[in-house]
Amino acid sequence: MTETLAAVLHEPGDLRIEPIEVREPGPGEVRIRVGVCGVCGSDATEYGRHLQLAEPPVALGHEFAGTIDAVGDGVTGLAVGATVVCGAGISCGECKPCRAGRTNLCRRYKTLGFAHHGGLAGYVVAPADIVLDVSDSGLAMDTLGLTQPMAIAVHTVRRSGLKAGDDAVIVGVGGIGVFITVAAVATGARVLVVDLNEERLALATALGATATLVAGTKPLTEAIDELGFDVDVFFEVSGSRPGLQSVLEASKPGVTIVPVGIQRGEPELPLGSWTLREMKVVGTVAHVFKTDFPDAVKLLQSRPDWSDVAPEAFPLDRLVPDVLQPLLDGSAQQIKALVDPWITEPRAAVHTKR
Ligand SMILES: [Zn+2]
Ligand SMILES: [Zn+2]
Repeated sequence: MTETLAAVLHEPGDLRIEPIEVREPGPGEVRIRVGVCGVCGSDATEYGRHLQLAEPPVALGHEFAGTIDAVGDGVTGLAVGATVVCGAGISCGECKPCRAGRTNLCRRYKTLGFAHHGGLAGYVVAPADIVLDVSDSGLAMDTLGLTQPMAIAVHTVRRSGLKAGDDAVIVGVGGIGVFITVAAVATGARVLVVDLNEERLALATALGATATLVAGTKPLTEAIDELGFDVDVFFEVSGSRPGLQSVLEASKPGVTIVPVGIQRGEPELPLGSWTLREMKVVGTVAHVFKTDFPDAVKLLQSRPDWSDVAPEAFPLDRLVPDVLQPLLDGSAQQIKALVDPWITEPRAAVHTKR
């Protein structure tokens, strides 16, 4: 085998399904036969708007699961045939944040699917130290395709310090908010989820949210008071100005705000009052593979079926019209779209446990 079909980004607006070379894994690397690859807003941004992370020409795809197909020299603990998930983020292991275990802040951080060929392809080569053997997880391949976004949520909740007995508010329950809801509920905290979309709020309830609020129907402060919440952490996931505004209005002294959604422009922030109210604003980016990936797998094991989150898998040649374009124009129906590089027609996702 020398070539495999891949979704190669050449420049914004120019994504081609074309063969790329499949190389042998080098020392410390493994080659993965991709089973499934999730697609998210970051892929859509690189394709449809501007290059932030991508170094084209590059095969996109950073949320993939598959089967080990070849193992390079010096790799231990990963055998051909093992079912694996990949963290996609490559850290150097030597810089200051790496040495402190904050590998997501590596000074030389690079991501498979942006800087190097990723998982929207038949095969991908990855460093073995960001590959986790999940052969015994009991999870279906399509479910394993949700591990990376779940790890992002695990990291977000870890950064927030949310714990059992706390109260949390999550504003925005789309492609990231859904996973944050799962991770937040799992801490044992009470969770209020806010969104404009009632269908998504119903999903949040199914995922264990304590309560939901249709955004705009009443002030967030009022809903919080009615519930008897005293909020410890706000996750602002929508990235919208009204979302941020509602969080700022509802914030009491001592709260933590995690602005997960990226705000465009420069919002005016009441820094003076934050000082006097000991507010904490916490950033979050990517995940720490070593700790966040195993926890993400556990969270995926906590539900029997993820069809409500990821109902369908698409072939590579439907990536632009059926997945990226809907993400860009806001018409995406499903929370998470999966791509199966080995099919030619869309199929229902399979989440039945093995
Ligand atoms: Zn992603
Ligand atoms: Zn580093």
